[in-house]
Amino acid sequence: MTMLRVEEAQALVLAEIARGAAEDVALDEALHRVLREAIVAAIDAPAADNSAMDGYAVRAEDIANAPVVLPVTGDIPAGHPSAAALAPGTAMRIMTGAFVPEGADVVVQVELTDGGLERVTIAQAVARGANIRRRGEDMRAGDVLLREGARIGPAEIAILANASKTRVHVSRRPVVAILSTGDELIEPGEASAPGKIVNTNAHLLAALVRDAGAIPRVLGIVRDRREDTIAAFTSAVESDFVISSGGVSVGAYDFVKDALEAIGAETKFWRVAMKPGKPVVLSRLGDRVIFGLPGNPASCFVSFHIFVAPALRKAMGQEGGIFPPTVRARLTAPLKAVPDRRVYARVHVEARDGVLVATPLQTQSSGALTSMRHANGLAVIDEGTTATDEANVLLLGL
Ligand code: AMP
Ligand code: MG
Repeated sequence: MTMLRVEEAQALVLAEIARGAAEDVALDEALHRVLREAIVAAIDAPAADNSAMDGYAVRAEDIANAPVVLPVTGDIPAGHPSAAALAPGTAMRIMTGAFVPEGADVVVQVELTDGGLERVTIAQAVARGANIRRRGEDMRAGDVLLREGARIGPAEIAILANASKTRVHVSRRPVVAILSTGDELIEPGEASAPGKIVNTNAHLLAALVRDAGAIPRVLGIVRDRREDTIAAFTSAVESDFVISSGGVSVGAYDFVKDALEAIGAETKFWRVAMKPGKPVVLSRLGDRVIFGLPGNPASCFVSFHIFVAPALRKAMGQEGGIFPPTVRARLTAPLKAVPDRRVYARVHVEARDGVLVATPLQTQSSGALTSMRHANGLAVIDEGTTATDEANVLLLGL
């Protein structure tokens, strides 16, 4: 099988993904989930014209020749609309959020008055309509407030609450099995021995899966034996998705591709023209999609962002924002691709004097955990090119 271009591989991934099931959850559990219903405003908000200030509701024409003194005929706290209309030549004291009485067409902020309770002196004229929030200014009955497929953040939670959605129809969180292949692996806290390394990938991938809104199911270490690898995948495919790390290269003990074929899974691709992350397998068994990611931690990290996170978002029915957004950033050091593969360099992006600046992390070694620390972007350097001043950068973690 030849090396695919990244975009071709991404298209093949998305082609394998169907939208998963939905469920109802309590409002506050809906954060970071994908909405699976449209939310339409039932009523106008605000429901009536209301005051944006603490002050006095008056008629603009009565204060045109300010300073003026007006009798105060009522007091309107928020939540207690005035039964009476405002009579010409009078004022009513009004609080922020309270409904503006009929007849009034402006609110004078208390700072421009003497704050009187019986009679108020208004020091300055204010234009008609000032300090009044109009009925329906925020949303009108019938407006589509949130579309199906929207990702729910704090602002969406507020809109759902305002729509009285105590239960929200959202995507079920897919369960993602995580396998770590390698004879060299030990778990964190286990006694080390020569040649052993800690299974960081299981924890890295579990965290990435959780960040992407799915549920990790960590299945542990799989030794580099064909039979063990087959057994591990056989139980892993009970989950909605499977991610393995390691064992997808051309080493004598790399059994992932072989084991997947042995259990009847169909290899969709193997090897993509990217660095890090060239040896990556996409495979399918029934309605399960399996990602065989490379073993090096930074390769796992990059492949997850490029292939797995978009797949999970699509599976949850997210509309838009499937792939990380791209920005143009100034580079603090040149970055070079390799002749036949696109490089995804780990960079730290920040704004300096209003300009986005990307600093390549010191090590770009795919085996180095420090090459991911502080990486909030991936600079994209096309095959055969060197970026000296600027590059496109994929923003991560949004
Ligand atoms: P492999 O693709 O299996 O040849 O693995 C490549 C390299 O990635 C190994 O030599 C390890 O250094 C590293 N590696 C593999 N699996 C893990 C893991 N679960 N956690 C951390 N590093 C790993
Ligand atoms: Mg290995």
